[in-house]
Amino acid sequence: MGGRRKKKRVIRRRPRRPKSIYPCPICQREGVIVKIDKKEGRAVVACMFCGFSDTTEVMPGEEKVDIYSRIVDKVTGQA
Ligand SMILES: [Zn+2]
Repeated sequence: MGGRRKKKRVIRRRPRRPKSIYPCPICQREGVIVKIDKKEGRAVVACMFCGFSDTTEVMPGEEKVDIYSRIVDKVTGQA
């Protein structure tokens, strides 16, 4: 322990996009935004076209895309 090599491998960070818009599972348009509320530990996934929206808990380490895909699974699984 303690002898971690530095700078050997750069971990690829996903670039932070100010706006991440995903395709909507309901209306198929690119209008879904994921908003993470870190204080609450929750996220809102909402489509700006058809009004679809859902709330989910955010697991540690989850990113917007993870949350988005979870919601899509949920929605398409129930359809
Ligand atoms: Zn939609």
